[in-house]
Amino acid sequence: MSSPPLAGGVTGPDGLRPLLAAVLDALAEGAVARGGPLPEGGPGAVELQLGKALDEVLPEQGQGAEEALRTLVTLMAAGAADPADPLCAAHLHAPPLAVAAAADLAASALNPSLDSWDQAPAASTLEALVTRALAAEVYGEAGTDSDALTATADALTTTGGTESNQLALLLARELLGSVQVLAGANAHHSVHRAAWLLGLPDPVTVPAPAGLLDPAALDEALTELPGPQLVVATAGTTDAGLIDPLDEIADLCAAHGARLHVDAAYGGGLLFSRTRRSKLQGLHRAHTVTLDLHKLGWQPVAAGFLAVRDPDDLAPLGFRADYLNAEDDTEAGLPDLLGRSLRTTRRPDILKTAVTWRALGRRGLGDLVDQVCVRAQEFADLIEAHEGFELYDRPALSTVLFRPRAADDEALAGIRRNLLAEGRAVLGRARLDGRLWLKATLLNPCTSTGDLAALLHLVEGHTPR
Ligand SMILES: *Cc1c(COP(=O)(O)O)cnc(C)c1O
Repeated sequence: MSSPPLAGGVTGPDGLRPLLAAVLDALAEGAVARGGPLPEGGPGAVELQLGKALDEVLPEQGQGAEEALRTLVTLMAAGAADPADPLCAAHLHAPPLAVAAAADLAASALNPSLDSWDQAPAASTLEALVTRALAAEVYGEAGTDSDALTATADALTTTGGTESNQLALLLARELLGSVQVLAGANAHHSVHRAAWLLGLPDPVTVPAPAGLLDPAALDEALTELPGPQLVVATAGTTDAGLIDPLDEIADLCAAHGARLHVDAAYGGGLLFSRTRRSKLQGLHRAHTVTLDLHKLGWQPVAAGFLAVRDPDDLAPLGFRADYLNAEDDTEAGLPDLLGRSLRTTRRPDILKTAVTWRALGRRGLGDLVDQVCVRAQEFADLIEAHEGFELYDRPALSTVLFRPRAADDEALAGIRRNLLAEGRAVLGRARLDGRLWLKATLLNPCTSTGDLAALLHLVEGHTPR
């Protein structure tokens, strides 16, 4: 019996080509069958659909590659919450660019693993180039004394903001000992989980009235608490897309001798925008910065990074395993990759980012960032102009919070669930100032003003009178 075709090698593309045709057909067919941002009928209907089609998950006799791809990819597409649909706007769940998805196919076919150079010669070199370039975007603020830093600043690739935040806390702990984390009430939940995982004291929550970390309260907390301290600020909060006053926070950290981590998983994308980059004023003063290009970077998951101002801070991650980075191999010039992640086997997630950057350039990426920010302003305009709706605040990034005036919290939660059950729209929810709000996180650069009007109309139609 012969083996099914492999994806790599000289003949790999010949094996892939007919299968790709099947995949693309199935993607199109599934999207048409879905006919909206998500499948209709809620979890029960989706389970039924999959259960019917997959009577056996591991059949005794294989069905063949094309049948399997057609069946399962069609099901996945028909049952997807598809961020490419303008009315799928709940989360920081970006529609990936076609160019990035195509690059990801090459990553899968070649399958380099970034735990040792002999599994990833070009991929590890590309990763070094891209991560340093990204670090330079963060730490290369023009007109500052950071030129020397730009040359040395580094970044690690991660699976996303959660892992980046975890690494930031781990580095702080290794460098400073059992560090006291101080995080805004607006910080991402992963900061708390990371402290728990790392055996650190419970983070102290700094009040964030109006969704922003309060510098006066931070000053007070830094004065009262015993050191060493790590302050976690957020550039682009998950609930409201707000950016903490980074410069002011960096001043306080400097004055109190505290380490600073900025979680810019969402807002970091502003680095690419010429007109909006200044909203991140002070970001380069952080010791570590979380970035997530599967948000405002339009990458398929995963595309997380942790930028590190001083690469010496990464030393605690170093580790020896004779089969991956023997000392004599390293001395002989083989790059040592094990200290660049806590993972061992690691996908070349960097390839899709490198391809996207080369294809679009900084300007092309910046245009996408600007576009979704402009859409958010337009959506806010529509809401403000409508008597039946209340706007939480003008958007700082691309998140818009609103609520129908006629709905209390319970009714509002019901509107969101009804839209999901009908397969009509995917909206998020956020509790701010003691009230529940509907949340539209606009990450789709193809969304039109008309789509936004349709979304508002849909919510209006679902509001109980
Ligand atoms: C999304 C997000 C995270 C978590 O990132 P993942 O990629 O989901 O792990 C962390 N912090 C902020 C501010 C985020 O928006």
